[in-house]
Amino acid sequence: MRIALYPGSFDPVTRGHVDIAQRAAALFDQLVLGVFDTPAKNLLFTTEERVDLVKQAVSHLPNVTVRAYSCLTVEFVKEIGAKFIVRGLRMGSDFEREFDMALMNQRLDPQIDTVCLMSNAEYQFISSSLLKEVAEGGGNVNVFVPECVAVALKKKLFRPAKTS
Ligand code: ADP
Repeated sequence: MRIALYPGSFDPVTRGHVDIAQRAAALFDQLVLGVFDTPAKNLLFTTEERVDLVKQAVSHLPNVTVRAYSCLTVEFVKEIGAKFIVRGLRMGSDFEREFDMALMNQRLDPQIDTVCLMSNAEYQFISSSLLKEVAEGGGNVNVFVPECVAVALKKKLFRPAKTS
């Protein structure tokens, strides 16, 4: 059985992530979306919230499961019995970082291969950080995220108008 891990912060999950998950789900028997529990980043959503949103966003994919993890990614790959790490590549900016990470992970465990899928042209400008900025500024991000995320962003960023 070919099992792959698609790891990320998913803060929050976007249509770009869902597209990569969908295409990876067609390549592997089982795909696990690993929501990294403690990234060194300022996160908008808690781990529980991120896992819940990812679950809703990929609920149409029968061979995909979602789990949080906090150990080294290669350790989690082994824990779930996988041999592959899936990552998405947007034009330019992602390549160097993904290449470094893939080489490091290969050093840490030569049995594990990283498979990068090219971003869909329609989604390649979408990043969780940029869309959070737009949403925080009051912009409409509905076309970039699954519906459940649009609703969650509205709730999270809603600030009642001050009276008087
Ligand atoms: P990380 O913090 O690990 O980069 P992200 O949640 O930002 O986690 O992204 C997880 C993976 O999904 C990364 O490989 C990233 O390049 C990829 N990704 C993010 N946004 C897109 C997109 N719009 N299209 C394709 N891949 C994407």
